[in-house]
Amino acid sequence: VESTRNRVDQGNFDIPLKDGALGKVVTRFPPEPSGYLHIGHAKAALLNQYFAQKYDGQLILRFDDTNPSKEKMEFEQSIVEDLRLLGVAADRTTHTSDYFDQLYQYALQLIEDGLAYVDDTDNATMREERGAGIASRRRDETVAENQRRFEEMTRGTDYGLTCCLRAKMSVDNPNKAMRDPVVYRCNVKDPHHIHGYKWKVYPTYDFACPVVDSLEGVTHALRTNEYRDRNPQYEWFFDALKIRPVHIWDFSRLNFVYTLLSKRKLQQLVDEGLVNGWDDPRFPTVRGIRRRGLTIEALKQYILMQGASQNILLLEWDKLWALNKKVIDPVAPRHTAITEQNLCVVNVLDCPALPEARDVPKHKKNPAVGIKKLYTSNTLCLEAEDAAELAVDEEITLMDWGNMIVKRVQRDPATNIVTQVDLALHLDGDVKKTKKKLTWLSMLTPAEEPGLVQCMLVDYDHLLTKKKLEEGDQWQDYVNPVTEFKTRALGDSNLHDLRQGDIIQLERRGYYICDRPSTTESPMVYLIRVPDGKAKST
Ligand code: ATP
Ligand code: MG
Ligand code: MG
Repeated sequence: VESTRNRVDQGNFDIPLKDGALGKVVTRFPPEPSGYLHIGHAKAALLNQYFAQKYDGQLILRFDDTNPSKEKMEFEQSIVEDLRLLGVAADRTTHTSDYFDQLYQYALQLIEDGLAYVDDTDNATMREERGAGIASRRRDETVAENQRRFEEMTRGTDYGLTCCLRAKMSVDNPNKAMRDPVVYRCNVKDPHHIHGYKWKVYPTYDFACPVVDSLEGVTHALRTNEYRDRNPQYEWFFDALKIRPVHIWDFSRLNFVYTLLSKRKLQQLVDEGLVNGWDDPRFPTVRGIRRRGLTIEALKQYILMQGASQNILLLEWDKLWALNKKVIDPVAPRHTAITEQNLCVVNVLDCPALPEARDVPKHKKNPAVGIKKLYTSNTLCLEAEDAAELAVDEEITLMDWGNMIVKRVQRDPATNIVTQVDLALHLDGDVKKTKKKLTWLSMLTPAEEPGLVQCMLVDYDHLLTKKKLEEGDQWQDYVNPVTEFKTRALGDSNLHDLRQGDIIQLERRGYYICDRPSTTESPMVYLIRVPDGKAKST
């Protein structure tokens, strides 16, 4: 953990911002409220906050709400909550739609200055013309004609609905982003989640983003470098509208193996029932990965570690989980659970039947984690796999108790599965000398105390079978058919006290996060396996 921290502090991206004056820098995180935040958004949000703080400046959270067909208040609320979880606190929260009046005036100005025209060319033709570098037949209409047509768009007339407004940048610039991009389009179908049906025309992101960045006093716009082609387009508007320019600072987009990182596609997975919602532990959303046991601490370290690298990264999940393990291992209380299937019952020959309680530390190396109850009695259970390996006269260690000698191993003649084991106490034995340190539980617990806890251990696999989807691949063709694995187990009585979100270690199994605690109505504890960055154990 230490070495990672150092790297973060040195700031892998300690490149100064151009013209980044202390107290003057303003950055912004502009999510579209069309889904829940995913780990890629977390990177953008954390980077924007990093620079705002580093320069003692300001961070704006701006909801980029220019497409009413996709946006909802539910998503806005979830974004606010998730940013709070990430520890990202904006100095101001705004909406692109706060500027709809001004954006509209700027559109009129472009038309008046002969820098924009209304195009009624159908989509397919427009795409063709743009690809081939052919001018639209409407490109040289008069200002008056464009004003009239834009008015039709504004009123949402039948003719207006067939049109869009395009900026007059270039017909055949080698950079296709410069080929007269659309700046306004009609939408009369869907109400805006704040403004209802007030507007029938909406600015595009390409237009609204530079204008609102400039109006809001943003000094540095952090943008993912896959859109680098669009930078000249972004900058074109500052000159065209004679407004204050904004610096662009590119960073690399995050991509993960076997993972979709697009709100639109994640929405499809939700809609098709392939996951149980946006907070599904298999999802790369902030909620999903937290539910799977990723700590915010590890996520921050991980993202800041990548720093200013401009490589488009296809990242492995393992590194992130390995980092997370370093965060949770020193503090995760340790418990025991034994798989229920084929569970093997053990007699301890010379031990009293009445269960005895003792206090043992929850973490062998960190006493601050606290103590837990351990019961011993003459009736125990072992993992079937461990029992299968036992040999008569062997000396073994039962963790937290002491050594035993195996006296008898009884097998089911039909299946050869061990059904019963007799052990004899040998507590004087040296626990350092045994090869086998086994997990075990007393089947008997005092009547007045909570007994063993029914557990459901849940593990997950990636949703996709292909590491990296290529251009043209349909995710539907690479859906992993089985991605959830459930194992019933008995857990030690202390697991009754787990609360949702608690992260523990089950000895010799791995790390788990409590997804559903035990209640009177539903006593079973649901524990989700937290990946640790090593090869899978199940
Ligand atoms: P998505 O396709 O997932 O919806 P988006 O870019 O359309 O992504 P926005 O809500 O517009 O989603 O994104 C808000 C901010 O998050 C933008 O600044 C965007 O650059 C950034 N962002 C989105 N995805 C990633 C990613 N995978 N890696 C880094 N930054 C990202
Ligand atoms: Mg976007
Ligand atoms: Mg997108």
